[in-house]
Amino acid sequence: MRDGHVHSKFCPHGSKDAFQTYIEHAMELGITTISFTEHAPLPAGFTDPTPLQDSAMKMEDLPAYLEELAILRDKYRGKITIHTGLEVDYIEGFEKETTEFLNKYGPFLTDSILSVHFLKHEGEYDCLDYSPDVFGDMIKRYGGIEKVYEAYFRTLLLSIKSNLGSHKPKRIGHITLVNKFQKKYPCPVSFNKEIRNILLEVQQNNYELDYNGAGTAKPLCLEPYPPTAIANQAIQLNIPMIYGSDAHQAKELLQGYEQLHRS
Ligand SMILES: [Zn+2]
Ligand SMILES: [Zn+2]
Repeated sequence: MRDGHVHSKFCPHGSKDAFQTYIEHAMELGITTISFTEHAPLPAGFTDPTPLQDSAMKMEDLPAYLEELAILRDKYRGKITIHTGLEVDYIEGFEKETTEFLNKYGPFLTDSILSVHFLKHEGEYDCLDYSPDVFGDMIKRYGGIEKVYEAYFRTLLLSIKSNLGSHKPKRIGHITLVNKFQKKYPCPVSFNKEIRNILLEVQQNNYELDYNGAGTAKPLCLEPYPPTAIANQAIQLNIPMIYGSDAHQAKELLQGYEQLHRS
């Protein structure tokens, strides 16, 4: 059993649970491989649009993050496999900075995720999953919910196609994150064609998908990212689906696991 998407005390919007708390709890749950994938520091020059600017870890904390994990990886060797990873943001317009970051830190990473949380709209950036209020505001400014969905899937496709160098993560994060507030803001338009395209592009590039259980615990989402119908398509395309809890505290490890499709 593997949990491929776990945050840590280095996340400014997460809990202060120690690495050891996660690791010990993971072993209790029978997890044999765990990947810590903290939000990578955002590129210099990018302004985090969230009110507290707490979307990602700080650059100055990155060495300590890597160092602590290197020690724990050795300490727990033979008991549980610990991967050092990052959840790297794909930010349209910051490809160069992101590539430079990956070139520098990629050699220290053994399992990472590339995710879209930020959408570029009329020269400014929005954090798509921050809150229902922000999402509602985006709907107004973008000119309709389908425009937000369009922007999300367009950016997601860019993230998959973009050349971010040889250390680009192989796993694409929560590919239906735009559904996070769907119980409040249902989208009347189908994006099946866009999603199909995205899956084909993932397949062609030999990438994996983050099969993310966090949405099941979000009261306005209540489904994994991606939901079963899309997961089934991915499985038919032989795309590896790597379960991830997206835990921001130790007790969230394996969240949503029971609700995922298992073939
Ligand atoms: Zn987070
Ligand atoms: Zn994420």
